[in-house]
Amino acid sequence: MTTPVKQHLIDPEICIRCYTCEMTCPIGAIQHDDTNVVVDPDICNFCMDCIPVCPTGSIDEWRVVETPYTLEQQYAFDELPEQDDIALPEDAGGEEIEAHDDVVVALLAEAHKGTGGKARAPATASKPTINLYSLSNPAKATVQGNYRLTDAAGDNDVRHIILDLGRVPFPVLEGQSIGIVPPGVDAEGKAHLPRLYSVSSPRDGERPGFNNVSLTVKREKMGLCSNYVCDLAKGDEVQVTGPFGSTFLLPSDPEAHLLMICTGTGSAPFRGFTMRRQRETPGARDSLTLVFGARSARDLPYFGPLKKVPDQFMRKTFAFSRAEDQPRQYVQDKLREEADTVGALLKTEKAHVYICGLKAMETGVEEALGEIAASAGQDWAELRNRMREEGRYHVETY
Ligand code: NAP
Repeated sequence: MTTPVKQHLIDPEICIRCYTCEMTCPIGAIQHDDTNVVVDPDICNFCMDCIPVCPTGSIDEWRVVETPYTLEQQYAFDELPEQDDIALPEDAGGEEIEAHDDVVVALLAEAHKGTGGKARAPATASKPTINLYSLSNPAKATVQGNYRLTDAAGDNDVRHIILDLGRVPFPVLEGQSIGIVPPGVDAEGKAHLPRLYSVSSPRDGERPGFNNVSLTVKREKMGLCSNYVCDLAKGDEVQVTGPFGSTFLLPSDPEAHLLMICTGTGSAPFRGFTMRRQRETPGARDSLTLVFGARSARDLPYFGPLKKVPDQFMRKTFAFSRAEDQPRQYVQDKLREEADTVGALLKTEKAHVYICGLKAMETGVEEALGEIAASAGQDWAELRNRMREEGRYHVETY
């Protein structure tokens, strides 16, 4: 009988196909085809370099197996197989493998200061469709609009892009991402990998009943795809993959109170959440809270439309880090200012926390929420882990 071994796998349902793990792996153990990203069991040496860079936690999957799943089997996974009833013998695979659970936990804690971890979808979320269109079978979309959201005089160029999918079925939920395939090839002559962007429109489209989605994209100085997307003109054709993501989703329960904390273009999914709620339950009161950080009002995507959303429908707080004649403020400062309200909210079972945007914000937000929970008499680590288990705590940062 074969000695059982621990095998590293990637959850195809959660993976958003950003390929960061593949680019990070120092020994080429991670590869992809048009469908899945997989780990070669003959190469992986459990170095764990891929663990902290994964934005979703889909990389943190392990199975004890007698015969490792082959690459072909992994490429065919729609979901991960259940763990069979196999025990790992004490002498199987050496110390690194034995100790790997602790290593993974430590790496995730270090990378995300506790905010990351394995995500779960809200219990009442709609079932998402994932990976319908792949690299070899991309959907073709036509650009319907490209509007600058930030002040034209500033150097922060953030765009609202609307893509029309025409007759191509493209079921996408708020919080999911899509891939855009930049044209051309890389230095090695290979087609570029798609870049991931969160959808900023609700499930029934930017314009309800029309088969279109919107994106919120910031031009990065050296960004191959962001420059391509930000320069798109009406009528241009774009290759789209996805949709991706099955956990950072909106609960269908209209009573669920969403605490949405974001910086910059991390606001994209929250625009989708808010518009869905506006269309579905326009009369709802006190069930949405947005804490939004940007350099200034001029740099804050959708500032004008957001200001018009009534406070009873969505409580909004803005933190500006570079506004003239004002001290620097960050989302964590605003959370502390609202400690009483946030603390009371965290005590309810209806609270859902979403954090999206710059990776650097995780530490500050985590500390602020920890202090707030403690002053409300709660053990934050215990509460956060329970909320994550219950699909009520979500972090998506890059
Ligand atoms: P940005 O304009 O560079 O920054 C937005 C605000 O965040 C600024 O006020 C900035 O302050 C502040 N900030 C910087 N470091 C912070 C920290 N440690 N804690 C709290 N606030 C901090 O933002 P951006 O370029 O739009 O970046 C948005 C990020 O979100 C990108 O990394 C993008 O990849 C990511 N994103 C993620 C998703 C997703 O996960 N689905 C979707 C869209 C975007 P300063 O003035 O001090 O810099």
